[in-house]
Amino acid sequence: MSKLQGAGLKPLAHSVSAKVRCPHPAEKLSYNAMKPGSAIEIVRQLRLKGHEAYLVGGCVRDMVMKLEPSDYDIATSALPEEVISIFPRTEAIGAQFGVILVIHRGHPYEVATFRSDEAYVDGRRPTGVVFTDAKQDVQRRDFTINGLLYDPIEERVIDYVSGQEDIDARIVRAIGDPRQRFQEDKLRILRAIRFGARLGYTIEPATWQAVCEMAPQIHQVSAERIREELVRILTEGQAAHGMRMLEESGLRAQILPELEWAANIEKSLEMVKRDAPADFAIGVLLHEVAPARAAQVVERLKCSRSEMHHINALVESLPVFARIAMMNTSSVKRFFRLQRFEDHLELARIHSTVCGAGRNGYELAVQKYRAWTPDDIAPPPLVTGEDLIALGYSPGPIFKEILNRVEDEQLEGRLSGRDQALAFAVKHYPRVNS
Ligand code: ATP
Ligand code: MG
Repeated sequence: MSKLQGAGLKPLAHSVSAKVRCPHPAEKLSYNAMKPGSAIEIVRQLRLKGHEAYLVGGCVRDMVMKLEPSDYDIATSALPEEVISIFPRTEAIGAQFGVILVIHRGHPYEVATFRSDEAYVDGRRPTGVVFTDAKQDVQRRDFTINGLLYDPIEERVIDYVSGQEDIDARIVRAIGDPRQRFQEDKLRILRAIRFGARLGYTIEPATWQAVCEMAPQIHQVSAERIREELVRILTEGQAAHGMRMLEESGLRAQILPELEWAANIEKSLEMVKRDAPADFAIGVLLHEVAPARAAQVVERLKCSRSEMHHINALVESLPVFARIAMMNTSSVKRFFRLQRFEDHLELARIHSTVCGAGRNGYELAVQKYRAWTPDDIAPPPLVTGEDLIALGYSPGPIFKEILNRVEDEQLEGRLSGRDQALAFAVKHYPRVNS
């Protein structure tokens, strides 16, 4: 700790070769239009106290690309304790790395002291950090496109890593030696592919070579982080492109050995919409894997219980669509009661579009599903256990059978009212004592 705090090296002046680009008026407009309001106020307050402060990382990349940033991170020369003393509401979320969460107007902003990372031991985390200056801070960041600073007061981008050129050329390039950077933190291997896929960028050849060479080391990253990156690759747009890069780099074989990569899967992923739910996207990815093996994958990736349930249901239930024409009405209605059935339908649509072959029951399913109301599919029961007790039945396993049978009849449309249903029960299940 003393090293961290004592490491408050005085921020060095910006002496060197940063490419400062002042946006021309049109660009200024678009930055303003995005108005990172509160983040700018935080920067301003830090400056008023004599510190350097900038917007940094993904938000600057997005602003340069004229996309709306999802959040705004701030990098500053102020030490963590100084940040804490300046703002009334803070949380020391990553104090050991110099990251303080500033809550401003109800929104959290990460304010990180300029730092460089010390040696990495476990392929994921540095052993410590040294507080430095803005130029060194961007050197520890992963890709040039993520290494830009933005001065919102003077409205200029500060670029020590030629990130703007790479944005213009649509390239993901590691900052520094890619092999070394991936050696330090293996998560960056997956992040390269995530940004490449999401932005539709090419991965620069040396960076790509390092991704391929180091794919077998991805296991140093926890299953949770692998899942998070995989989900983001699948749901942030261009999932098919992302998965193809995972395949070509050898990463797919490492993280998803159960999946046989095929043109069908790639075409299916092309139909996954941006921002699709994570479990649905994984379901599409795994829909041709045998259910037992798909279950192993979601277990290994440590998906949540509800995600596991949904993914397994998607994979297991897909073949049912092909049998709908042969199923009786009550079974079809019960099938339609699966949670989030719309997802099942969408996977069946994707599958049948890709496979062509007879549309695999998808159209019949849609036709029936649209024709029925929720009450047709899951009507209130005509008979309850209490009714059976009142009729003189003794509670036991037979109750379930009777209630199911009555419900079958109801779903088939052969029973309409309660009296009819009670009469049906009595007729088909004679009471022991009567
Ligand atoms: P997104 O829009 O997906 O959030 P982002 O670029 O903001 O993208 P974050 O994960 O939020 O990504 O990280 C913020 C910034 O921190 C990055 O832009 C990058 O500069 C830096 N960063 C994040 N993770 C790493 C890492 N593993 N190695 C090096 N730098 C990283
Ligand atoms: Mg971010």
